[in-house]
Amino acid sequence: MIIDSHVHIWKRAMLPNSIIRAYLEPLLELDGLIDMSVDREKDWPMSEVDAEMLISSMDVAGVDKSVILPLDFGRIEEPRVDIETYNEWVFEISLAYKDRLIPFVGVDPMRGKKALDIVEKMVNKFDAKGVKIYPGTGFRPDDDSIKEFWQLVDNLNLIVVSHAGASWGPLDENFNHPIYFRNILEKFPSIRIIIAHLGGKWRFETYEMAKEFKNVYADCSALQGWLPSQSDVAISRLKEAASIMPDRLIFGSDWPLFDISYPYSQWVQFVIEKDWASEEIKERVLGKTFASLI
Ligand SMILES: [Zn+2]
Repeated sequence: MIIDSHVHIWKRAMLPNSIIRAYLEPLLELDGLIDMSVDREKDWPMSEVDAEMLISSMDVAGVDKSVILPLDFGRIEEPRVDIETYNEWVFEISLAYKDRLIPFVGVDPMRGKKALDIVEKMVNKFDAKGVKIYPGTGFRPDDDSIKEFWQLVDNLNLIVVSHAGASWGPLDENFNHPIYFRNILEKFPSIRIIIAHLGGKWRFETYEMAKEFKNVYADCSALQGWLPSQSDVAISRLKEAASIMPDRLIFGSDWPLFDISYPYSQWVQFVIEKDWASEEIKERVLGKTFASLI
């Protein structure tokens, strides 16, 4: 059973123009492939990705289940489609693939009451199991003004996925430090947090917290950024994480973000085949750990 804990789907109008550009920036090395000078509806092959496209990519890659994380960048720039509609869309279209797709709520806690309402609505209506946040939109996760958000997450027993590490464009990566979850974990010891991308350049903060708190997990999505040219970096990061937190490392891809530079199916094969951990640990990373977490 292979579970991908970190994928996205969207319609173009659900993402702000400034963010589309920011997401594409890491791909600018592939210069000439994309004209970055103007905003266009079809500025990128992944401008619109829906459940059907995701399922067919999963089929090719041999992935059984995926966790869909809606993205709320609205406090940077409100997209044409509002965040509640985006979440509803993700949950609605996932209903057709109940045994394959696991949608989480994606909302910026700084929206205050609206964020709480969206989380409650998705839990009541669709039995949502988790919530994705993105501190780089401009908040520290332990900011006192969002303590009600954490109280709700704790009450509803939701899994939290947080972006961590680098951000581009109008996003402020200084908010993306994994260590900002320490205060949350001290206050709410039952909240389970998945630090995305291992925490990126701040992954040692993730490792430090993982030693201190049993509910800290990390996903390995976006390591494809090192592929294909620097596969040694991807392997050493996987080895490092597997040696420190073997039972709490979770497979992820960030599909469709890296597909253009490194195909999804190859990333899955990379994790399956390369020599970075025992077969037993790989099995846990590729599905068992997330299955027991959820
Ligand atoms: Zn992502």
